[in-house]
Amino acid sequence: METRDTEFPSFELNDQVALVTGAARGLGRAISLALAHAGAHVALGLRDVSTADSLERDIEAMGRRALRLQMDMSRPEQIAAAIDKAVDHFGRLDILVNNAGVGPENPAENVREEDFDLTVSVNLKGTFFASQAAGKVMIRQKHGCIINLGSQAGFVALPTESVYCMTKAAISHLTKCLAIEWGKYNITVNAVAPTFIRTPGTEPALADPEFRADVIERIAGLHRIGEPMDVAGAIVFLASPAASLITGHTILIDGGWTAE
Ligand code: NAP
Repeated sequence: METRDTEFPSFELNDQVALVTGAARGLGRAISLALAHAGAHVALGLRDVSTADSLERDIEAMGRRALRLQMDMSRPEQIAAAIDKAVDHFGRLDILVNNAGVGPENPAENVREEDFDLTVSVNLKGTFFASQAAGKVMIRQKHGCIINLGSQAGFVALPTESVYCMTKAAISHLTKCLAIEWGKYNITVNAVAPTFIRTPGTEPALADPEFRADVIERIAGLHRIGEPMDVAGAIVFLASPAASLITGHTILIDGGWTAE
C-alpha cells in the first residue's frame, strides 16, 4: 500500500507565531531558539525588555522574525498588553509557551508571605492570565497550542520547595482544565515536567557536589543532568502538527526519576 507524503507526521512549525514567556535565559532561551529552528517566528516575553537583544539577533539570523516584549508575569496588565502587541505585530498567535517561573528555596516553616505570593503570582496567576489572553486570540482563530512548564516537582515532593511544588502540581491540573474547556476551539493545552536541567536557575544548587551526585543518582534511568534542549525538543513536538491529538497531558522529562 502506498503512503502519500501528506499522511506522514509533520514536525515543522513553518511561519507559525510563538510567544515564550521568561525568554531571556535558561529554558526560555533554548525553547525560543528551538521553535525558531523548527520554523516559527518568536515573540519574547521578558521581565525586563532591555534584555535578550542577542537572542533576538540569533533568531533573526535563522531567517525568522523576533519581537521583544515587556512582560512581567507578576503584572497582569503587562501580560495582556504584551499579547496584544504580539498579535498586532505578527497578525496572529499560534503557540504560547508559559515558561517563566520562580522557586525561592525555603524550609516550609520559614516561608515568608512575600515569597509565597511571588511564587504563586508568577508560576500560577501569570500562567493563567497569559493563557486567558492568548486563549481569546486562539478562540477567534479557531486554533492554537498552549504549553505550560510544570515540573517533576509537581509529581514528587522536593524538601524546602513546598510552595514551588504546589504551583507545579497545580499547573498539571490547570493544563487538563483548559484542554477540556478549549478543545472545542481546536486549542490544545499540554505541559512538560522536567527534572533538574542545567540552567542559570539551577546552577547554584547543582554546584554543590553532594547535591549534584544525589540528583544524578535519583535520575534513575539515565543518570545525567538534563540539558535545556532536552526540554525544548518536547515543546517543539507538542507544538507541531504531529501532536495534534495530544491535549491535557503533562510529559515528564525526568530521565526516569519518577519511574523508580
Ligand atoms: P531560570 O534560569 O531561573 O530562568 C527563569 C526565567 O524566568 C528568566 O528568564 C527570568 O527572567 C524569568 N522570570 C522570572 N520572573 C519573571 C517574571 N516575573 N516575569 C517574567 N519573567 C520572569 O529558570 P529555568 O531553569 O530556565 O526554568 C524555566 C521554567 O522551567 C520555570 O517555570 C521552572 O520552574 C521550570 N523548570 C525548570 C527546571 C530546571 O531544572 N531548570 C526543572 C523543572 C521546571 P530574568 O532573566 O529577567 O530574571
